Amino acid sequence: MSAIKVIEPATESVMAEVPRAGVEETDAAVARAKAAFPAWRAVAPADRAKLLRDLADAIEAKREELATLEARNAGKPIGDARGEIGMVVETFRYYAGAPERLLGQTIPVAGGVDMTFREPLGVVGLIVPWNFPLTIASWKVAPALAAGNCVVLKPAELTPLTALELEVLALDAGLPEGVLNVVAGPGSVCGQRLVEHPDVAKVAFTGSTEVGRGIAAGAAGTIKRVTLELGGKSANVVFADADVEKAAAAAPWAVFDNAGQDCCARSRILVEREVLDDFLAALKPAVEGIRVGDPLDESTQMGPLISAGQRETVASFVPADAPVAIQGAAPDGPGYWFPPTVLCPVPRDDRAVREEIFGPVAVVVPFRDEAEAVALANDTIYGLSGSIWTRDGAKALRVARAVETGVLSINSNSSVRVSTPFGGFKQSGYGRELGPHALDAYTEVKTVYYATGG
Ligand code: NAD
Repeated sequence: MSAIKVIEPATESVMAEVPRAGVEETDAAVARAKAAFPAWRAVAPADRAKLLRDLADAIEAKREELATLEARNAGKPIGDARGEIGMVVETFRYYAGAPERLLGQTIPVAGGVDMTFREPLGVVGLIVPWNFPLTIASWKVAPALAAGNCVVLKPAELTPLTALELEVLALDAGLPEGVLNVVAGPGSVCGQRLVEHPDVAKVAFTGSTEVGRGIAAGAAGTIKRVTLELGGKSANVVFADADVEKAAAAAPWAVFDNAGQDCCARSRILVEREVLDDFLAALKPAVEGIRVGDPLDESTQMGPLISAGQRETVASFVPADAPVAIQGAAPDGPGYWFPPTVLCPVPRDDRAVREEIFGPVAVVVPFRDEAEAVALANDTIYGLSGSIWTRDGAKALRVARAVETGVLSINSNSSVRVSTPFGGFKQSGYGRELGPHALDAYTEVKTVYYATGG
């Protein structure tokens, strides 16, 4: 096997080398998972729950180490990385409640009893991106294991380190060999193999809409179950009757969090025309004040982009003649830095308004009234997230129902929680992660009729 050179985006230096898995290693991981499945599904629910709680404890005990690894490898501020590992722990604890609550139903029928069971699928392939490496992995691994499946997890090639740690922690916590397997290798090789493998019952994918489209097509060959969490171009809608200062102060964190490499980034800020000037005036100090720098410095609020290629892509949305209304600062020297940038006014058909940028670039677009706000918010192939700012409660709910996205927040930009469902409308994907809903994606309903002769 050749090696994956893992780069630290803040320094551009190699921080680790790990063996690069290929088809052979992927097949071996699937075989291990398949062999482990009969015993794992037979573990008593309370015992499976305890193993998941033990794994949560093991992750918590390593929280600082894992957070530092994630901060260095993904280039995210250490405070954010600690929060993310905290969410991983919370996710395993939440789904530790599931094995004993996978309830079926009894349905009255003639001549006997009909009952349903929630059965595990078998081996599931989990393919995750580099922006929230261990967090997004946990959103899939925890419900999959809780439901009695065995897992092959494929992290992004750029950020394999915390997933590899998770594999070791799972064994230390007492999970049987083969229940959780990690293959670190290219998506087009290992990921593709998981999609095509006849012994993989389901693929759960988080990543770009483009790759997701190929996965949906590839999975058709074996009628594999697929859930897709894909890209976004979410709207942050600010009405004139909102607390405009509060909305403006919060807006940078709805899009520049994780250097904008967030599928939920509210990168289209739609502002009712009569408060546009007030909004921009309040937004300016908030954006200019963002501290961009070393992810391991406790005061840093935004780190670098993940790679040189990502920086090049992001920069292409801000050509020399771009209408830059507000721009923050970024360090010089090594590191894939890009300053937080706000474009305004931008033509509505501009690439920056229509395409997912996945970097710290936002557009501000004025609107006339509620109907135009909803039309603009929905004028995209995506439908993942979004925010609505208004003091009019009825309007807030009307707009929330009209916006075609899976997760929304009102007078807040916070919409992702362990206990609530998360996922997209339209080309942002299908299926739901987190909350009670995730378990549906890792189980099949079985119906059993028992004739009682009555
Ligand atoms: P990507 O689609 O390039 O890669 C995601 C994963 O898929 C990686 O592990 C990659 O190795 C693998 N992969 C690549 N080609 C593959 C193939 N042909 N077959 C199987 N697997 C393959 O995405 P990325 O650049 O890592 O992440 C950025 C994208 O992810 C953005 O579009 C972002 O919006 C999206 N994203 C979505 C969510 C969500 O929950 N909706 C969350 C985070 C990121």
